Amino acid sequence: MKNGDDYFMQKALELAKRSKNKVNLLVGVILVKEGKIIGQGYQNTREGQHAFLQAIENIKNIQNSTVYINIEPCFYPEDKFSCTRIMTQKGISRCVIGTNNPDPEVSGKSVIFLKEHGVGVTVGVLGEKCRRLIMDPEIRTAKRTNLRYN
Ligand SMILES: [Zn+2]
Repeated sequence: MKNGDDYFMQKALELAKRSKNKVNLLVGVILVKEGKIIGQGYQNTREGQHAFLQAIENIKNIQNSTVYINIEPCFYPEDKFSCTRIMTQKGISRCVIGTNNPDPEVSGKSVIFLKEHGVGVTVGVLGEKCRRLIMDPEIRTAKRTNLRYN
């Protein structure tokens, strides 16, 4: 369905695949407000800005918008600037996640944090496709040193 969760997640996946970053997880973000895409981003290099931060750049008001992201956004409890925290500060109303972070140390933690801060969370949209991207042989054989970098 056009303008449904699958539709926007598919777009986030396509963005993620554009990344030249073969070291970390490939991440794409689509930002949607009132059914329209208002921002998008993907992390192109290992040192590059996180996909979510790119998506919100130059947008004054992202309140009540929905984030589509193929892998759960980064969350470090000690870090003021993790994407998950910024989502709660900027008034994102809903976060749609393709699949949890495969790193068992952080997996699911951003989901808990978002829910605790009143953000609606849906996990598993196009989940199989999103997992497959993580398991892509080309990416798997690349030397990944930090799965959390998303
Ligand atoms: Zn991030």
